[in-house]
Amino acid sequence: MPMNLIDTHCHLTFEQFGGDVKQVIQRSIAAGITGWITVGTDLADSQKAVELAARFENMFAAVAIHPHEAKSADQAAIAQLRELARNQKVVAIGETGLDFHYNFSTPQQQQECLIRHLESANELNLPVIIHCREAFDDTVEILESSGEGIKNIVFHCFSGSVEQAKIVLEKGWYISLTGVVTFKNANKTREAAKLVPIDRLMIETDAPYMSPEPMRKQKVNEPALLVHTAKVVAELKGMEFTKFAEAVTATTKQFFGLPDLV
Ligand SMILES: [Zn+2]
Ligand SMILES: [Zn+2]
Repeated sequence: MPMNLIDTHCHLTFEQFGGDVKQVIQRSIAAGITGWITVGTDLADSQKAVELAARFENMFAAVAIHPHEAKSADQAAIAQLRELARNQKVVAIGETGLDFHYNFSTPQQQQECLIRHLESANELNLPVIIHCREAFDDTVEILESSGEGIKNIVFHCFSGSVEQAKIVLEKGWYISLTGVVTFKNANKTREAAKLVPIDRLMIETDAPYMSPEPMRKQKVNEPALLVHTAKVVAELKGMEFTKFAEAVTATTKQFFGLPDLV
């Protein structure tokens, strides 16, 4: 039976797919995942994401400079990114945000980079995909001070607490869950997931990373495996699977303003 799930966050341009995206997409469609948002992580990768999205029906792109690469986000790079974002297959600015786990760029570089991205999203009237790791309070603060007027904001790969989920929802933002929600030690994330109303909830693989259980040993995650995460989240929400799939896809289309898929 057709499900038409959408993988709202994957990196199909990454070398782990070895240029074999066509087969990845075929396996995805066979598993009922028939839409994809491939997410750029720097200027060159965002360009690749736009080019890849042009090749596949139902594939869209998000463009941004990831917080890890924030040091490369000078004025010229942001200007180029904005140009790229005008492509009709681009449906979001992202992923952007703060990652204080690695600090590959300094916190200050990351904060400035995030603010530039929020300004761009506002100007282009695009939603924003937020990457947030060990930086929840700072991220919320910047979104509050510089995110006003942005139509939709999602915390991708959410693995926070019930308290953090409540804050995200209270602000009117969205939560997207990866395979983390299937991991044995992820009770905290499962408790948080239960709280999220279906019209504020999305799902994603973050492929090639984060393979869900029971496929966690598969080194290169791919959109076909989204179905495992979907099943766990449907159960947490106490929803029959096809009803869940329908509802989560409706939320995704609304969030990104996607056209009707095939
Ligand atoms: Zn991320
Ligand atoms: Zn990602």
